[in-house]
Amino acid sequence: MITYDHRNQSIHIAYTFDELLHASQAGDPFNLWAAFGASTEDQIKYRHEHAHFVSYNATGLAEFHAVFLDYRLFLLAMATKHLISKRGAVFPLLLEEAQDIEAKTIRRAISQVLSQEAFLFGYGSSKSIADLFAWEIQQEALEILSTPLLNLNPNVLRYRSVVRQILFTTSPAIVHLADGGSIYLGDANSRLRLSSRAVMEGYAVTIEVVSEHIKHVRTSLDVQRAQPKRLPGALDRAAIDFFLDLLPDREIAPESFANGNAGADVYWAASLMMFAALQVPVLEDLSGLTIVMGSLKQLSPAHRLASIARGIEKGQIDHPLATYNQRENAEAVLDWLNRCHEYIGDPWSIKFYQYTQEMVVTHGIGMDALKRSSHALSKLARASFLDQPYHVVSEAGILTQISPRYIRTADNRLVSRLSSDEREAFVLYVFDTAVHIFEAILDAESWSTSWEKAALYGPEERKSAILIACKRYCDAEISEMRFANGFS
Ligand SMILES: [Zn+2]
Repeated sequence: MITYDHRNQSIHIAYTFDELLHASQAGDPFNLWAAFGASTEDQIKYRHEHAHFVSYNATGLAEFHAVFLDYRLFLLAMATKHLISKRGAVFPLLLEEAQDIEAKTIRRAISQVLSQEAFLFGYGSSKSIADLFAWEIQQEALEILSTPLLNLNPNVLRYRSVVRQILFTTSPAIVHLADGGSIYLGDANSRLRLSSRAVMEGYAVTIEVVSEHIKHVRTSLDVQRAQPKRLPGALDRAAIDFFLDLLPDREIAPESFANGNAGADVYWAASLMMFAALQVPVLEDLSGLTIVMGSLKQLSPAHRLASIARGIEKGQIDHPLATYNQRENAEAVLDWLNRCHEYIGDPWSIKFYQYTQEMVVTHGIGMDALKRSSHALSKLARASFLDQPYHVVSEAGILTQISPRYIRTADNRLVSRLSSDEREAFVLYVFDTAVHIFEAILDAESWSTSWEKAALYGPEERKSAILIACKRYCDAEISEMRFANGFS
């Protein structure tokens, strides 16, 4: 099993640390390419996971998501600090039965941010836009945790401005409708939600099929797939279904798409269209200031995909199939993207890429920047898109050497390009996963799922992660830490 998890920015592999070192060339554990040399099946699955990594980091999505993640981290850290000072460091701080007004208000605020994230980056939400983005819910929680300057914290300001932007750029006519922000496929009886997650999955599946059937990736031992590629479940393949419905003069069943029988031009077109939908107009500069443009129509990958489809149907945008013969011509690909973005009211995304490239060229992005912020990686990934759109669209830029920040091995070792010192790598990893660490220690309801997201196991590893995270994010002195009964 190989999986990329953007929540902890790691690629998880089925090899132990020793196996990884042994298998990779010249002892470079990051040469996963070589490490998977034995099995073609592993190589192909790695391409799928790598595509998830790239579609998140080379599009603006990582920077957009950070607005919500950084705010949620701040809220969780402030709530943790507040509760430790009142009740002592006994984790989790809120037990399942906690029903007091304070617990309810904090939980409600956190769950609202989680719904926003699901709506914009995951499987969607059936709440109305007004409920999803109501600021008052956050305001109540911040008042409970109040120190006078809390509302002026940069993460709070940035987040507040973005949720207000989304609310006030949504038509008042639909803002109170339950499910008003969702897009559905099919008739009233078989309604299937087209979510942002489905667009990401559509891209990753296409990259995987291309590497198997078009690029014919093989390894020395050439151990093939044991069974044919299984189609993802209905929710995950909604974007592929949506794309296939749009093909002129060709009937291609989803199974046949997954089995490599759709034709190279169709895969190119699918990949290009999904990627265009993922390129949200968001840019974080090198000091952490974020610019977010547009409304849901430009900011949600699901909405973008639906608008692009409408433009193609109306003949306002060429079908992406038309770019196939020019696919290796960067200018032609960027021209199509520009047309497409402009049609959906986004004249910004491509400019943001150009500025990202300039940042990379002017400032260079070295190890220091990568250690300081995970978005430095996103700058490199975005610059590489502008250099080589063909490679990013058709094979997720596999040759660009941009890889996730961490590798987690089967025996739970942490390997990072950021530092060869395992302790330092661990500290950086804790910073990167702090939102899940706080989520776990704050609330019994999310204890096990959040430790799972952070991929930190065992009481000693957890205690050490808690101390590092509390020191950095909430300035909380913990002289004695305990886990409540039944939690460890
Ligand atoms: Zn996937």
